Amino acid sequence: MQQIATRIAAIREQIAASARSAGRRPEEITLVAVSKTHSPDIVRAAVAAGADQLGENRVQEATPKIAALAGVSPRPRWHLIGHLQRNKARAAAELFDMIQSVDSLRLAETLDRHAAELGRRLPVLLQVNVSGEASKEGFALAGGITNQPAYAALLAELEQVTAMTSIEVRGLMTIAPLAESPAQARPTFRLLRELRDDLARRIPQARWDDLSMGMSDDFEAAIAEGATIVRVGRAIFGDRPSL
Ligand SMILES: *Cc1c(COP(=O)(O)O)cnc(C)c1O
Repeated sequence: MQQIATRIAAIREQIAASARSAGRRPEEITLVAVSKTHSPDIVRAAVAAGADQLGENRVQEATPKIAALAGVSPRPRWHLIGHLQRNKARAAAELFDMIQSVDSLRLAETLDRHAAELGRRLPVLLQVNVSGEASKEGFALAGGITNQPAYAALLAELEQVTAMTSIEVRGLMTIAPLAESPAQARPTFRLLRELRDDLARRIPQARWDDLSMGMSDDFEAAIAEGATIVRVGRAIFGDRPSL
């Protein structure tokens, strides 16, 4: 457990160093500790060690965990970072402080309806499949922002999402392809930033502040490319038990 505190402190130092070498302020970057597969006791230790933002990738797993940590002070904020099935959208809209994995117009519509019923405005990020891998969820950025008419179709969908009143778009999220080195992930991160910058010009009525990108192996490269949220699991909690 002490190890978790040590690791969180080390990650925060690495985040700060990466920010400074990119000419950015360390406070611009939020660390989300990805607690998926780990027990409430371990997550509680992470919160005690200063992890104030937690990431889970499945509603089913997160539901009892969030309940188990309900009394913990200060209350951590919970981010959903995994694919959300529409039949779990209502539970997710109730449980999470932010949903980072809004990966389709239909899911956005479903979440918007549930958030409205719950009387809340739900912060979300739009997940983008930058690399075009068939196995990846997300709005498709096939061929980048210069590829017409694919980009025009994407823009039309994103405009619809940003017009919804009960979900509040805060930015974009992506998962880089599995790579042998962090350097290989950089083009993906750069493309997400370029997309964000272009969206901020074209759809200025929405907030495009956040770029959630970078995990244990490549968060430093992501920060160099402008990440405002990094999602770190193994580097804090150690390897996940194989399921
Ligand atoms: C598991 C997961 C992470 C954390 O990955 P690590 O390699 O453990 O840091 C980040 N983002 C998403 C979407 C994940 O599913």
